[in-house]
Amino acid sequence: MMDAEVMRAALEQAREMVLFYGKDGTISYANESAETLLSYDSGLIGHNVLEIYPGVFRDRDGVLELNRSLELDGFTMDAYRENRTCFPTVVRIAGSRSGADILLAIDISKDVYLERRIEHVDKEKQEASKVKSEFVANVTHELRTPVNGILGNTLELKEMETERAKLRILSLIERGCADMNAIINNILDFSKLESGKFTLENREFDFREMMDYVRSNHKIKIADKGVDFIVSIAEDIPRRLIGDELRIVQVLNNLISNACKFTAVGRISVEAVRTDLQDNRMELFFLVADTGIGISKEDQDKLFQSFSQVDASISRRYGGTGLGLNICKQLVELMGGSIHVESDAGKGSMFSFHIWVEVPEEELEKLGQKVGRVGAVMPDLAAGLGGAASFEEFQRENSVNIVMTYGSPENMEEIKRKLNKLILSAEMENWEKAEGFVTTLRELTEQAPKDIKNTALRLKMAVQKEDYDKTAQGVDTLRTLLNQEA
Ligand code: ADP
Repeated sequence: MMDAEVMRAALEQAREMVLFYGKDGTISYANESAETLLSYDSGLIGHNVLEIYPGVFRDRDGVLELNRSLELDGFTMDAYRENRTCFPTVVRIAGSRSGADILLAIDISKDVYLERRIEHVDKEKQEASKVKSEFVANVTHELRTPVNGILGNTLELKEMETERAKLRILSLIERGCADMNAIINNILDFSKLESGKFTLENREFDFREMMDYVRSNHKIKIADKGVDFIVSIAEDIPRRLIGDELRIVQVLNNLISNACKFTAVGRISVEAVRTDLQDNRMELFFLVADTGIGISKEDQDKLFQSFSQVDASISRRYGGTGLGLNICKQLVELMGGSIHVESDAGKGSMFSFHIWVEVPEEELEKLGQKVGRVGAVMPDLAAGLGGAASFEEFQRENSVNIVMTYGSPENMEEIKRKLNKLILSAEMENWEKAEGFVTTLRELTEQAPKDIKNTALRLKMAVQKEDYDKTAQGVDTLRTLLNQEA
């Protein structure tokens, strides 16, 4: 048996308020917490619990009755002090064998205060975010109007203009407008995704047409760089699917544009395979691999964060806002999937993502799949990676290192390709492109004998000065020197 003194001490020191009361509600015992919190001048004994908890009890001819059903975990109810101010508590009521009932209550005013504060802060945050996204929406809209105005006028001027130099400037303005529009769209998408206002528009579409469209978006630009471009689509992906075509294209465009931006030699491959079918939902797996500059392991973690660019100097050279991959990640997640990267600095990158789409009834029938059948298929990467079974193999086969090793057949081949591209760009007076090729040429001849390196350097200066004669001369000299080498 526990000592009565100990029990009393425990009751006295409990944080919970404890009251004993009789059938008519008269309090016969109150612990220290109750006395302190309820602050009755002459003590609680002799008062009625009804005064403290008018919401819990009622008086029926001198007998106390409960106003509500009892809940095991207690219920929230205000407790009244003698001066009729009140505070929130959680109340539990227990019977006892001696006839007196026991009321236990905890003061929760602090929790309630905190809860209200959090609610308030949440509301303020929502309000601020709403204001922010409205602001972004307005500003981007306001920006779009003048940009499109400039673009329209530039196109009109281009029609009238015949002078080459002026046409070149107009083309530059046109490109600037297109870039600006792309950035505005990115900011708008980003702000919508952040505020949770982004909704997908799922419709039936032709998958193969979509992939053709993606291919044609990049074909010329990649070929212009002298880089190979391979797109392959698994046979077992149905022609018609239901999903947000526009957004799938957006993710693919972004990844392929990046691959193009950061790849000077080698190959870019895009691959689409089917990896799972559950009822009428199909999982598609996409892969965009390149043999470009690659991304170091440390930088890969930052990649999908907003506004993150791996290297400020690189982005200055290549441009961009650092929003693209974050938007891709959010879009892919909205489509029920995820996005990953595998890369090594200097050895190319492989971005892959999967999404879920729906298969229309007729296509399901064509597939001969009974609805309800579950079929997970491992992606067959071999096709898209040009026969390589894995990214490692892809890297090995397309190793930029071999191309970059001066004197290797791959290296010589690439130098010749770039020289052809360079002279063509110079003839077209596309000096920006020419500068890209001459930069790659210098990298390709990094380990070459001095006379070749010096010619490459002079060639670069000629290109920077936009001097056609000197450029043509440099290309010729370099070709002769290389032939002597061989
Ligand atoms: P941006 O709009 O600046 O291109 P992204 O989010 O698309 O933004 O890309 C962020 C950064 O990730 C790029 O600036 C680049 O440093 C790096 N990156 C993305 N794709 C590649 C790639 N295929 N190869 C090398 N670096 C890449």
